[in-house]
Amino acid sequence: MSNVDQQLEDLRAEITSELPSDISVSDVKYEGPELVVYTRDPKKFARNGDLIRQLASQLRKRITVRPDPDVLSRPNDAREDIMRVIPDEAGVTDLDFHVDTGEVVIEAEKPGMVIGKHGSTLREITQEVGWTPEVVRTPPIESSTVSNVRNFLKQERDERRDILEKVGRQIHREEMSNDEYVRVTTLGCCREVGRASFILSTPETRVLIDCGDKPGAEDEVPYLQVEEALGAGANTIDAVVLTHAHLDHSALLPLLFKYGYDGPIYTTEPSRDLMGLLQLDYLDVAAKEGRAPPYESEMVRETIKHTIPLEYGDVTDIAPDVKLTLHNAGHILGSAVAHFHIGDGLYNVAFSGDIHYDDTRLFNGAVNDFPRVETLILESTYGGRNDYQTDQEDSESRLKDVINDTYDQGGKVLIPAFAVGRSQEMMLVIEEAMRNGDIPEMPVHLDGMIWEATAIHTTYPEYLRDDLRDRIFHEDENPFLADQFNHIDGGEEERQEVADGGPCIVLSTSGMVTGGPIMSWLEHVGGDPDSTLTFVGYQAQGTLGRRIQNGWDEIPMNDRGRGRNNTLKLEVDVETVDGFSGHADRQGLMNFVKTMSPRPEKVLCVHGDESSVQDLSSALYHEYNMRTFAPKNLETFRFK
Ligand SMILES: [Zn+2]
Repeated sequence: MSNVDQQLEDLRAEITSELPSDISVSDVKYEGPELVVYTRDPKKFARNGDLIRQLASQLRKRITVRPDPDVLSRPNDAREDIMRVIPDEAGVTDLDFHVDTGEVVIEAEKPGMVIGKHGSTLREITQEVGWTPEVVRTPPIESSTVSNVRNFLKQERDERRDILEKVGRQIHREEMSNDEYVRVTTLGCCREVGRASFILSTPETRVLIDCGDKPGAEDEVPYLQVEEALGAGANTIDAVVLTHAHLDHSALLPLLFKYGYDGPIYTTEPSRDLMGLLQLDYLDVAAKEGRAPPYESEMVRETIKHTIPLEYGDVTDIAPDVKLTLHNAGHILGSAVAHFHIGDGLYNVAFSGDIHYDDTRLFNGAVNDFPRVETLILESTYGGRNDYQTDQEDSESRLKDVINDTYDQGGKVLIPAFAVGRSQEMMLVIEEAMRNGDIPEMPVHLDGMIWEATAIHTTYPEYLRDDLRDRIFHEDENPFLADQFNHIDGGEEERQEVADGGPCIVLSTSGMVTGGPIMSWLEHVGGDPDSTLTFVGYQAQGTLGRRIQNGWDEIPMNDRGRGRNNTLKLEVDVETVDGFSGHADRQGLMNFVKTMSPRPEKVLCVHGDESSVQDLSSALYHEYNMRTFAPKNLETFRFK
């Protein structure tokens, strides 16, 4: 009998002896990080509300109880009983029964009402029908990404359970080594922005943190092909952790599966959905630009299939000697600081991912409170000594001035923006300004993936800032559903109509004017001296956005699709409104470390240009007297 089987046998015996004698245990299994207990008496289990919690704390495991398939009531009967228990106001839109696991997935407009106070309604459902309920939110704005991901996972449920069972046995395998060390190898984003990736290793375990792409680095050998990166191959990695969905952190995850990896990816649920959306778009863009994409869309599906979503604050075993906890990072939807506890109190490392320290309109500020942490791997995008951002309020009032002036001229405000994050922030600023009468009411058109990304935001209000979340819970106050917002889904014809119409605001991708529908908008509106092109985000070196900012007013338009090749003369006003950012500025980064509890002993400054990481590293050393480093790519640090 294998070690894991023996372990499960012992657990089964222990659980049986702890439970009242009238509750039977028919099987005990690992599924990913969870211990699943099958019982012939699910109703009795549910009646003792505290039983599962007691077991979980005694065994120090996450426990799920499921009914033995033999004892289940028929789905049709169960459906009626379930609907009787759930209040009508919950707005149930779908019930999906899984006979083999005894789970019923309930999709509802108000999941809180299906859960009930401290889970009381859920327990009532199990008491009534024996099935184990699982609740998901019906997106308030229909999202094809969310429904595609959910349908896909539904189809793949059997295979997914096999994957989870395999992962579960991996996590709970016996430790083989008597050695003790903790190392971090930097694979990317050191003294550069882009291709974030690290390996955290112990004698027992190798964890890959992030796996991003570096835009514009097509000629460089991807680090994933460098020997130090994957060692004896992708299969030597035990687990992958994704801090957030931005492509410079997530783009190459699917490549791992092409290389033969078939282990888990831990991230938040919204990061999983956003990642899928962005990776598919990444393939799309590559194809349009005539580049051979590094992997096929099938690999994106593999990535999603292998994702194990975690909530903020859940302490999760991901290997025999590694516990992972994700915390809010305040950067984009679902973004996380990844905290690792290694061994039994041996060492603690936190990877910041990208962070925003202060609250923004969309998110609460990044969490920097941990039980223990010795080393921090810290992003340094704005770590340079002069990287101070304009105050958010000043930026917003500048934006309102630009909109008012343009409106008075009868023009249109064209804002290139990233689909994820900046666009939703703009929507919130604009919606509030119109509600308060600071700017006139006018249509706000959303083009590119912005609408879809917004729909994903409204599906996961738990991940948004407290007051915004509360507004979304009250349907009539959901700012993203305001009447002014119009989704451009009619393509070129609709754009032409908008261009021929009166004053309006257009938010469109891509954020750096490197392609996408913004190119069309430039064709339509770029020649109008009464309109304004307004930059609200960083424009990287070499992008068309940066060139226009620098005064270029003749734009080559070579549109492969239409075989045209001509020059567009820009007549619009060009404005830049600084201060909107998903990243902490220099002060924010310093404050993150200053108020961090506990203060780490060592900080590795990464994810910034050479001067930014050097500046930040030296400032942290001088001000807080800690050991700091500005590593290069492919360095290894031994911490213990
Ligand atoms: Zn990011």
